[in-house]
Amino acid sequence: MKKKYEGIEDIEMHYLDEPEKHLGSLSVPIYQTSLFSRKNGEYGYRYTRISNPTIEVPEKKIAKMEKGDDALLFSSGMAAITSAIMHYVKSQSHIVYVKDVYLSTEIYISKYLNEKFGVESSFFNGSNYEEFESVLQDNTDIIYLETCVSNVFTIPHIEKICIEAKKRGAKVIVDNTYATPIFCNPLELGADIVIHSCSKYIGGHSDIIGGVLISDVKTIESIKHNERSMLGACIDPHQAWLILRSLRTLHIRMEKHMENGFVLANYLSNHPHVDEVNYPALESHPQHDYAEQIFKGYPGLFCFIPSGGIKKAKEFYNQLEYPERGPSWGGFETLTNTPGFWEGIGNGRNSDIKQGSIRISVGLEDVNTIIDDFKQAFNETYK
Ligand SMILES: *Cc1c(COP(=O)(O)O)cnc(C)c1O
Repeated sequence: MKKKYEGIEDIEMHYLDEPEKHLGSLSVPIYQTSLFSRKNGEYGYRYTRISNPTIEVPEKKIAKMEKGDDALLFSSGMAAITSAIMHYVKSQSHIVYVKDVYLSTEIYISKYLNEKFGVESSFFNGSNYEEFESVLQDNTDIIYLETCVSNVFTIPHIEKICIEAKKRGAKVIVDNTYATPIFCNPLELGADIVIHSCSKYIGGHSDIIGGVLISDVKTIESIKHNERSMLGACIDPHQAWLILRSLRTLHIRMEKHMENGFVLANYLSNHPHVDEVNYPALESHPQHDYAEQIFKGYPGLFCFIPSGGIKKAKEFYNQLEYPERGPSWGGFETLTNTPGFWEGIGNGRNSDIKQGSIRISVGLEDVNTIIDDFKQAFNETYK
């Protein structure tokens, strides 16, 4: 596959790592301090809830990778998401969001903001632009998207949506956790704020919770001194340093996730006991052509449905021995989750998740080991 992100490695490795500022230290030190003393002068930092050099370096690296002006790190992805929405929301707001959005985001928009403040919301299927147009209201002032909606893998048409939003004076927030700054840059497609959970691919080692928000200078300054400072969901310097460390290998890891994901998805696509593989990297994906336009590559995250109905799918799932199990993704480890096994799918939410769907986040292991395990699970289930 052609490499379409030249230069990003240089940002990951060297941008803003200035040893001369830190006694020659190649690695940016962890300034584990709450306060910066002003007894002997001003150094540009006062209090770690507002800013800290260890936190600023990964912020500025991610901003550059995302082609934004500046960025802010948060204690979690949800802290970045709720801060971004709080920044734009008003008491009379109507929020439009993509269907099957990250569940905590949906609950925050559709229940929390509604029950406490009367904020209204509507959702649309991410693969259906006409449905997006049909749910817009005169008071729609926030549009909340994900670059690719995990579990259903719909890809909202960010460019068209942003053009419509600008006409109406609405703001567009895009959760880009799925694609990472390596594979997609939604600010270039017209988004106002881009968000990532750093707990997934950016962190990549299944050991941290963090979030980041990227935007223009004015928006970042305002969120820094209002939502982040007042709600206080700032990040700890040590956590920020772990994100900085993870950034150095982000493109390398994403390439391997893509390579392994592609091999496993192709194996499953050609398997007689698989009904469907839902992966934007494959030509069989209904939005593959659009995906090719906006993605420079694909992470190793997709869903597949074993044949024979939900009972067989469960049996197959229980035969898999190698993958870990859990709802997260983007770590070094191969991880499975079962969105299509939930009672009534998605705990009663209005959802397009298909019955029997198993989601897999393909890790960085030897892909042949993973495939061998799938082979034995198919043999045991369909003997
Ligand atoms: C995990 C995730 C979040 C939430 O991030 P946390 O760091 O767990 O708060 C938000 N959006 C998406 C798409 C996610 O996968």
